[in-house]
This record gives sequence, structure tokens and C-alpha cells, in this order.
Amino acid sequence: MSENPDELYREVILDHYRSPRGRHKLNHVDVDNEGSNPSCGDEVEIQVAIEGDIVKELSVSCVGCAISVASGSMLYEVIKGKSITDVKKIARIVKALLKGEEYDATGVDLGDLDVLEGVQKFPVRIKCALLSWVTLIEALESVEEQREVKNITTE
Ligand code: ZN
Repeated sequence: MSENPDELYREVILDHYRSPRGRHKLNHVDVDNEGSNPSCGDEVEIQVAIEGDIVKELSVSCVGCAISVASGSMLYEVIKGKSITDVKKIARIVKALLKGEEYDATGVDLGDLDVLEGVQKFPVRIKCALLSWVTLIEALESVEEQREVKNITTE
């Protein structure tokens, strides 16, 4: 941790904002979803390729403020290769750290995500930071629903 958390927060956010990771479009897409945050004008498009229960590859294209773009870029770095269960756990942690609530990150590599705690100081930006996460979770839940329907109809 840097001695000055504000400085670290700014540096990491700006780095992800200037060169967001994971913007490449996927050749094979199992599910995609779009989300927007009208209060700020942020928009995101997420593509996911799933193998079994693993998010094998994903693409995050976010256009908007620095926090929304940076959060989407961090999401890409942390989520790629994770199981759907872990993705949901990490999304809950992100929500908690944005809101200043307690969370248990045992066994979870949060990457740069812990700097998002700095967003607590700017409550109007919490929705910006959550946009990519909410959009991704919606996409994964739709995959799980489709699988359930399949299970019921093939029983
Ligand atoms: Zn925003």
C-alpha cells in the first residue's frame, strides 16, 4: 500500500481508464449483455465465453467516466478464468467495499479492486463502479436460468 491512499487510488484508476484491459471483441460468445448508468451516461457491453462453470474469456467495452471504465477494466483482469460461483462472490465483495461494509475475501485475489474502496468518498460514483459488475452478473444469471430450463425439459 502506498503511504497516501488517495494518491494510489487516483493512479490506479487513471491507469485503467487510460488503457482499459479486455476491450477486444470475442470470436465465440456464449452470452452478452449491455448496461447503462443514465445518471452519469456510462455504457457498457460485456461478452462472455463460458466453458463448464468457468468464465473462459470475456470482453468489457465501457464508455463513460473514469470510475466506470476503470472498474470494468479491473473486472476483466480479476474475473477471467474464474468460476461463476467465484465471480458472484467477488461481485458481492466489490459491492461491500464500495459501500464501506465488511467483507470476507479469504482465498480471493482481488487484484487492484481494493482501490475501489476510495469510491466511498464519492457516493454518486458507486453506480458507476458497479455498472460492469451488475451487467456481468445479469449475463451469468441468464446462462444459469437457461441451463435450469434445459434440465427441466430434458428430465
Ligand atoms: Zn460514471
